[in-house]
Amino acid sequence: MGKLYIMRKIIVVGSGIIGLSCVVYLALEGERVQVITRNPEEASSWVAGGMLAPFSEGLEGELFDFSYESLKAYPEFVKLLENVSGQRVDFWHGGIHRVVLRGEEELLGVALNYARKGYKTEVIKEPTGEFSSEVSAIVHYLEEGWVDTEKLRDALFSALKKLNVELIVDQVVRVERSESRIEQVLGLKSSYRGDAYIFAIGAWSRELFDIPVYPLKGQFLKLRGYKPQRVCYSSVSYLIPRENYIYVGATSEDVGFMGGNTLEGMKKLSEGAMRVLPYLSSSFLLDFSYGYRPATPDEKPIFETGDNYIIATGHYRNGILHAPITAYIAKEYIKGKRSYYIDVFSCERFTKGHRADYSV
Ligand SMILES: Cc1cc2nc3c(=O)[nH]c(=O)nc-3n(C[C@H](O)[C@H](O)[C@H](O)COP(=O)(O)OP(=O)(O)OC[C@H]3O[C@@H](n4cnc5c(N)ncnc54)[C@H](O)[C@@H]3O)c2cc1C
Repeated sequence: MGKLYIMRKIIVVGSGIIGLSCVVYLALEGERVQVITRNPEEASSWVAGGMLAPFSEGLEGELFDFSYESLKAYPEFVKLLENVSGQRVDFWHGGIHRVVLRGEEELLGVALNYARKGYKTEVIKEPTGEFSSEVSAIVHYLEEGWVDTEKLRDALFSALKKLNVELIVDQVVRVERSESRIEQVLGLKSSYRGDAYIFAIGAWSRELFDIPVYPLKGQFLKLRGYKPQRVCYSSVSYLIPRENYIYVGATSEDVGFMGGNTLEGMKKLSEGAMRVLPYLSSSFLLDFSYGYRPATPDEKPIFETGDNYIIATGHYRNGILHAPITAYIAKEYIKGKRSYYIDVFSCERFTKGHRADYSV
């Protein structure tokens, strides 16, 4: 990677949160960056719930460490984006409520494990008030938070403009290599040559690379009505209060890139919402949509590297949470430093003897 110190142009393919965070970090260090994206609107990032929830997700081991580091980096990340873009990003601290439904009491054991390790956790047994009688406890994970992903999108694109980053709308269809270097990428409209490349194309990664990433569709809806104070994360719904509405997520469907919202999906979401907060039954439906999580067989991200490139993908359910740490790792790699996490989450884990079948 020694040569990369003198590189002049870095190409980032993909304009979701992972790609654009890399762009901002690199541009702020004076690098010349060009973004190529098929469609700035289609990224899963902008339809995501925006929960920053490694505890509620029950993450463990290296994935937890990676996620927790990113969670701790979030306040700085948001501040940086606000400063560069001049736009406000709604970001809430102070914790998420992990809802424990009757029959799910093992979740209290998970909370106890985090508490024993010193993470801030409070348990409220038999909560009353807004919660349904099906809710047996609430675990308050005080270090978690959430972010409005639409405001994040606006701030990231505005930061790009402020940093004079060139954004090209094109679909990359081929990557030309010689051994472990990328020479150029071919798009439908033109070809692009850089000194280094970052690929952050989420659920579509397999269209360009032989890596086990596949789409897991998530439908969600938005409601207007009385909002809970903080995120209520349950096994049947996530209820995420934003400035002017409640985001209700999300289904998890292995249906490839099949688009659209289904009646079944909407039913699951509305029933899931009312099972936690019955008063939501009188809320008004404001909007609904869907997106594709970049899933991997072991639900962990993937880094793949060569002499002048890094692929950062497979962030599955936690790509919003993982943006700061991933962007930092990618930027450092381009500058010649290899993070420990690149090896931990290398694609080689699927090919070195301990790989499960990843056919999807
Ligand atoms: C309903 C839902 C809810 C979610 N909730 C949360 C949550 O609460 N918290 C959380 O942390 N995560 C959440 N996620 C997961 C999160 O959204 C993803 O992990 C994250 O957005 C992945 O970001 P990305 O930048 O890798 O991919 P994306 O945001 O999907 O961006 C990929 C980009 O690559 C471009 N692209 C693809 N192929 C090409 C090509 N060949 N050439 C050029 N450009 C290309 C696309 O146009 C797009 O711009 C949720 C996801 C969904 C679907």
